[in-house]
Amino acid sequence: MADEMQINPQRAKQLAENLASITSRINAANKSSRQIRLIAVSKLKPATDILALHQQPQPIHYHFGENYVQELLEKSELLPRSIRWHFIGGLQSNKCKQLAEKIPNLWCVSSVDTEKKCDQLEKGRKALVESDASVEPLRVMVQVNTSGEESKSGVEPDDALALAKHIVDKCPTLRFTGLMTIGAIARSKATTAETENEDFVALRDIRDKVAEGLSWEKEKLELSMGMSADFEGAITMGSDEVRVGSDIFGTRPAKKDAVVVEKG
Ligand SMILES: *Cc1c(COP(=O)(O)O)cnc(C)c1O
Repeated sequence: MADEMQINPQRAKQLAENLASITSRINAANKSSRQIRLIAVSKLKPATDILALHQQPQPIHYHFGENYVQELLEKSELLPRSIRWHFIGGLQSNKCKQLAEKIPNLWCVSSVDTEKKCDQLEKGRKALVESDASVEPLRVMVQVNTSGEESKSGVEPDDALALAKHIVDKCPTLRFTGLMTIGAIARSKATTAETENEDFVALRDIRDKVAEGLSWEKEKLELSMGMSADFEGAITMGSDEVRVGSDIFGTRPAKKDAVVVEKG
């Protein structure tokens, strides 16, 4: 368990410095009064890296993002329940129920793109809420394929509203909180704090349409956009949440070489 894990003090110091540097870049890019959430994307990185930023009794960071169900299940069992997990990776319908049911501190699933996946998440969360009344509804974001690339998951822009309505009307233990996009890598690389990345412009427009379709204030819907290469530009375009991995934790190992618990 967490109290048995050995954290390398040098590594912990490095990670804390990286996190502080990202936080100050976020604050510098944010010209508004809104709060921007930073998800530290810890996929394929060891549990000790997460614990280094979330040590008791005074964690310096709470929100962590993961992409693989099995890896997240393992990490969530090892690490403190005070962590707020975000599932941001490609979702498979047959894993949705366990994802929503087995991780009480799963805070948000940012990558829903079909009704079937929503229904499976709903099933899992409903079962969990029935067995533990302290568990909150599960936040979900609809992932939109704003770049039209075949390799990217996400709903087509025109289908975002229908999926949002399905969540709001049919999934009482899910809470629809916003929209997420990854966007094209080339556009991402070309993004600066001054350029208008087309994917971010598109997601903002889709958010406005979805809010209108639901008769909600658009401020009620968050935008999750921006990664290591482009988070400052995303903030300029109105992002409420950025997902930063490599600029905090360094380059990731190949999936086959990743380990949750490093051997001492
Ligand atoms: C891996 C990943 C990130 C983090 O990417 P970096 O470039 O390492 O910051 C953000 N969002 C999603 C959906 C990811 O899969």
